[in-house]
Amino acid sequence: MGQYEAVIGLEVHVELKTKTKIFCGCPTEFGGEPNTHVCPICLGLPGVLPVLNKKVLEYAIKAGLAINCSIAEFSKFDRKNYFYPDLTKAFQTSQYDLPIAEHGHLDINVNGEIKRIGITRLHMEEDAGKLVHQGDTISSSFSSLADYNRAGVPLVEIVSEPDLRSAEEAKAYLEMLKAIIEYIDVSDVKMEQGSLRCDANISIRPVGSKELGTRTEVKNLNSFRSVQRAIEYEIQRQIDQVEEGERIIQETRTWDENKGVTLSLRSKEEAHDYRYFPEPDLTPLVISRDWVAELKNGLPELPEAKKARLIAEHGLPEYDAGVITSSRALAEFYDKTVCIHPDYKGVSNWIMVELLKLLNAENMEISEAKISPEGLAKMLTMIEKNIISGKIAKQVFEEMFNTGKDPEAIVKEKGLVQISDEGQINSIVEQVIANNPKSVEDFKAGKEKSIGFLVGQIMKETKGQANPGVVNKLLKDKLNEL
Ligand code: ADP
Ligand code: MG
Ligand code: ZN
Repeated sequence: MGQYEAVIGLEVHVELKTKTKIFCGCPTEFGGEPNTHVCPICLGLPGVLPVLNKKVLEYAIKAGLAINCSIAEFSKFDRKNYFYPDLTKAFQTSQYDLPIAEHGHLDINVNGEIKRIGITRLHMEEDAGKLVHQGDTISSSFSSLADYNRAGVPLVEIVSEPDLRSAEEAKAYLEMLKAIIEYIDVSDVKMEQGSLRCDANISIRPVGSKELGTRTEVKNLNSFRSVQRAIEYEIQRQIDQVEEGERIIQETRTWDENKGVTLSLRSKEEAHDYRYFPEPDLTPLVISRDWVAELKNGLPELPEAKKARLIAEHGLPEYDAGVITSSRALAEFYDKTVCIHPDYKGVSNWIMVELLKLLNAENMEISEAKISPEGLAKMLTMIEKNIISGKIAKQVFEEMFNTGKDPEAIVKEKGLVQISDEGQINSIVEQVIANNPKSVEDFKAGKEKSIGFLVGQIMKETKGQANPGVVNKLLKDKLNEL
């Protein structure tokens, strides 16, 4: 980077999980045969009238409040005109100068430093249909099919101030935003399914400069990883361009995930190109303060507050608390487990290490895993009672993760009960001592470390089932007798 600084602002689209669309009664359900969730209103046939779904307004206000915005007292819809085959009406019903929420902010944590990112606005709009391009990429496609099931699905667009300075900060912002929306339960926020979508506006400027450079807008970012990679690539591309004495052109670019590059899509349109005007078919909105207050009161504990509480009340390290609260599902899993088995750090360790490892390996969401908080709590109790060792517990955990079986049943079925019987362990200790005279000699000669090897041999003999405490004690006794 050297003498340049990156400036990034994100535009995030969030699909709201209402049952029906924003202006008609069609279902919003994902999937479904193409063009089966449609009606004259969401197809934009002449002569029909839209009616606002009140749930959309409620969810938008909740989302606005959760990201610290002020909620408008008066708001309206506008038409954003453009022609594209995914939009049958040739205009998108959106909000222009009087959005439902403005002037918010969100605090992100990057490498232990807290930074406040401004949120310009949050507005409501309808989603467009989906074009399915017949070919590898949009530019090499020979034809496209149009599916309007998504047309009219409610969205909120959340626009950040250009306050982000790196790909890492952008990712942290997006993760925090996703967590908050997930906590307040107004969207599935799944990037793979398109219920969370992000466009990144990127520019560079000399370090110390206060002016904004010319930006490009990068689209087609379908995962957190692609957001980060695309921003990193685009920053470097702009620096190279400037270093070569070229100017940055304001344009819309697309991220090519396979090639790992951004490509020019079109020159950037300006607001006046859209000929925005107030939507004449929808009445403007007067938002009651009482309703806003009621919605605010009803908000659940948000990730930041929850994190602070887990640190203060459960004594979790900041890192643990951050990971556990990064998703609502994970936090709920933690809550339920510690409710039954209040070993906070123990539960947090199993979630952060074993559970996340398995989820990542299988690329799964916690809701898809079979393991239950009750199961984990029970397993931890079994470790505490010395029924199983911590090592065996990992096997049990994995089995619970895959099958959802009860830990006691797994232990019985697989014969994994910990061996604590001194007589049984003693005979193995004697056998291992007899088979490893060299290590015994080393130990006698003062090499304390060789005891680790002997313990390892005993654990191997017992397939990890021997109680390590008992093994250590008996082994030391025996060696000292020699
Ligand atoms: P548009 O609809 O033209 O894209 P918006 O106002 O909706 O405009 O969004 C602009 C986004 O771009 C915001 O997130 C804003 O923070 C960001 N942005 C504006 N100027 C710059 C810039 N020079 N460099 C980086 N980001 C910018
Ligand atoms: Mg934009
Ligand atoms: Zn419809």
